[in-house]
Amino acid sequence: MLRSKYIKDASVRPDCRTFHRELVEAWYRDEAHIKFQERIEVCLGLFPDPEAFRSQGLIVRQTVQRWGAMSPAGRLLLNRRLVQAPIDAIDYVITHELCHVEEPHHGAAFFELLDKRMPGWAGRKQRLERAMARELPNPVAADANATPIQAIATAWISSIST
Ligand SMILES: [Zn+2]
Repeated sequence: MLRSKYIKDASVRPDCRTFHRELVEAWYRDEAHIKFQERIEVCLGLFPDPEAFRSQGLIVRQTVQRWGAMSPAGRLLLNRRLVQAPIDAIDYVITHELCHVEEPHHGAAFFELLDKRMPGWAGRKQRLERAMARELPNPVAADANATPIQAIATAWISSIST
């Protein structure tokens, strides 16, 4: 289904190289969206009142600044490259962001809530940082002008918001 959508688009795009990159990027983003939606449901299950923590939509975007964010309006942003992280690390980021629905700031109440919903989150965070510090295959950054993955991973870790 996804494939036929992209193949149809191919017929109207003359610039092959740019097109190919955009195609892979779009496919990757869609895949991330599907996987994240699935994990959001699992993470909501950690809350006794899941509907109170459900976000008002999911935005998947490639960003170098952070793994995730919860907007004041309750929209969940997840970094598209998080899809390459281990599942337990993805769940950590999602659960962290869901906790922001109730506690917008990283105060004591926030960590109390996170500890309660996901005991052992610190170990998951560590695994996330370790996994993303390793060089990961990036099907999108195939051209020479692309930022080296290692640099991106390092930037993420140093500015990690989660
Ligand atoms: Zn946070």
